Amino acid sequence: SKFTDFGLESDVLQAISQLGYEDATPIQSQAIPVALSGRDMIGQAQTGTGKTAAFGIPLVSKIQATEDRIVTLVMTPTRELAIQVAEEIEKLGRFKGLRSLAIYGGQDIGRQIRGLRRKPQIIIGTPGRLLDHINRKTIKLEDVQTVVLDEADEMLDMGFMEDIQSILSLVPAERQTLLFSATMPANIQRLAQQFLRTPEHISV
Ligand code: AMP
Repeated sequence: SKFTDFGLESDVLQAISQLGYEDATPIQSQAIPVALSGRDMIGQAQTGTGKTAAFGIPLVSKIQATEDRIVTLVMTPTRELAIQVAEEIEKLGRFKGLRSLAIYGGQDIGRQIRGLRRKPQIIIGTPGRLLDHINRKTIKLEDVQTVVLDEADEMLDMGFMEDIQSILSLVPAERQTLLFSATMPANIQRLAQQFLRTPEHISV
């Protein structure tokens, strides 16, 4: 389908066009309307399907540039993915003037704290370093409205189950949760059962 079919604002359509995307990929066609509706969602999709924009487009569409709190949290298994997702979200939110920040282990924490002072609305991070900031109170989750778990199966394989559970228990219950995973083993289904509310299932 076409990106113009989703009722997106012109700043977001312009960003999509500047990225060179003409038609929505199958995961985007399915995920964008569900995510825009506010429902929880489980998306089964591999890397390379366009899943980053499938959640990135609805995320940037929901945020106002005047917002000065963290309203969206994306968790990824690795720093490489956090950086890649942050770059795509930055591009999608550019014309709206949104601010995003990648937070990952191995980078100087002082630099991250300086980045947080710019009041990003969107944080993309790995669970361990996110929890570090939460414990230091340099990141507060009390205003988060949307959470994305990207490559959830990878995160669980890397041993992040407890960190993810700790983080999700600190996000207000009145939120939207989007879970993406290439595979749906029992531990992912348990995580979804624990933290998602009547999710819509999509797969490509
Ligand atoms: P991802 O699955 O998010 O890692 O995306 C895989 C690649 O597809 C990335 O290089 C994206 O820039 C690209 N991509 C995402 N959506 C589209 C689209 N609608 N049209 C063309 N390329 C896209």
